[in-house]
Amino acid sequence: MAMYIVEAECISCGDCVPVCPTSSIYEDKIVFKITKETCTECEGDYDEPQCVSVCPVANCILPLSA
Ligand code: SF4
Ligand code: SF4
Repeated sequence: MAMYIVEAECISCGDCVPVCPTSSIYEDKIVFKITKETCTECEGDYDEPQCVSVCPVANCILPLSA
């Protein structure tokens, strides 16, 4: 299970990068992306995905399986 960033919604604020416990978020040109192989959806670290908690844009980070 992993989350992904909807590129059309991302405003490239970078707020999600420092809160990720698995360092799975990186800048790729003008948007940010999540490495799906290492994203744990914060399971074991937090009750909810921290990137979603801090992202200022609604529905910008969604479950990959959805
Ligand atoms: S859900 Fe958690 S582990 Fe996955 S990218 Fe967001 S902050 Fe990182
Ligand atoms: S917090 Fe949201 S808008 Fe900001 S860089 Fe991350 S995904 Fe993009």
